[in-house]
Amino acid sequence: MILSPQEQLSQSALASLQAQRLTWTVRHAYDHVPFYRRLLDGAGRKPREGMRPEDVRDLPFTRKQDLRDQYPFGLFAVDRKDVARIHASSGTRGKPTVVGYTKGDLAVWAECCARALALAGAEPGDLLHNAYGYGLFTGGLGLHQGAEFLGLTVVPASGGATQRQVQLLTDFGADGISCTPSYLLNIADAIEAAGVPRSALRLRYAVLGAEPWTEEMRRQIEERLGVDAVDIYGLSEVIGPGVACECREEKHGLHLMEDHFLVEVLDPQSGEPVEDGEVGELVFTSLTKEAFPLIRYRSGDLASIDRTPCSCGRSTARMSRIKGRTDDMLIIRGVNVFPSEIEAVLLRQPDIAPHYQLVVYRVRNLDVLEVRAELTAEFVQRHRVDSEVARALAARVVEAVRGEIGVGVEVQLLAPHSVPRSEGKAVRVQDLRNA
Ligand SMILES: [Zn+2]
Repeated sequence: MILSPQEQLSQSALASLQAQRLTWTVRHAYDHVPFYRRLLDGAGRKPREGMRPEDVRDLPFTRKQDLRDQYPFGLFAVDRKDVARIHASSGTRGKPTVVGYTKGDLAVWAECCARALALAGAEPGDLLHNAYGYGLFTGGLGLHQGAEFLGLTVVPASGGATQRQVQLLTDFGADGISCTPSYLLNIADAIEAAGVPRSALRLRYAVLGAEPWTEEMRRQIEERLGVDAVDIYGLSEVIGPGVACECREEKHGLHLMEDHFLVEVLDPQSGEPVEDGEVGELVFTSLTKEAFPLIRYRSGDLASIDRTPCSCGRSTARMSRIKGRTDDMLIIRGVNVFPSEIEAVLLRQPDIAPHYQLVVYRVRNLDVLEVRAELTAEFVQRHRVDSEVARALAARVVEAVRGEIGVGVEVQLLAPHSVPRSEGKAVRVQDLRNA
């Protein structure tokens, strides 16, 4: 196992490193990015010497919209000629978000991704099959340079052409693979369809991210491919993959690269810090980035943080898996509710199909959250929709949801195909309170 000294710093050594780097970052952003100068002046927060990590709370937030407004290069803090590489989001919801890296930034990013690979169990000399997409997306090149940094042999397979992926994996004898978890399940299907026996594969670990996934998917992947599957987290605005990654030893929380990123977990409504262990929005401040410094960026990703020591020997804080997005959050009678929490309850009921909708409305100024879910065809063949058995099931769902989110709900169990189907992204929530 390879541990970097930066992952074993004492609390006080880490805090003093973060303090020094935060002071530098605020000064650097203020001096070189007109947007940050206006933002900090507007909040009455000019750069000053001797900042402590907790002083970050006095600084104003940066949001996704600010990044879009500064399209393409408005947030760069160095001359364009000193930007060694540019990446960008796909821009499916508007203008893409463009980010830049100096040579120094690329080196930091490579080190973060190298640490992530080491967290998964990679060792110098291993062969890594990198099936993340190459291009403007940060996944492919991010892991690629991390693998080179760690001394691995990289196969830049990129995504697609799954048959060929199977062939390369077996012929080259890859020790590790990096890609999205859903794509690795596709590859596992293709391996089985091609009749390749498990003994023909040498895979020991899989570094999976760029989309939400579950413990159930981890169990399937690990069983089918005989690997340790770990979750890697990152977003292009912050640097790309390698902001945090699970360790193979625990697979319980993703170790944050705290020497490069200052992480806060805030209540998405009030902007106040939540307790360790409580879910809130992850807010990032970069500590070492030259081309694209970032001050208190509201990621929209919801997770909790755990600062207890880990058995792997790293002292860095761990974030939970992403629990959802702030864009999806509902406030029901003052309680923050995430559709994913209710979905988790529904998916545990074998008689309920994975088609549901959450409808919120008001009765006499009181919020009502109604869960509309379809019964399975098998259930309806055995019992009627309005049967005693169905009513008992609905009552159990009410209790299970209350146990999960702490709020009472109404549950309507419907016949198959009652919930409207969507062509693209499913519309899970209808909030009629302001309608
Ligand atoms: Zn660990």
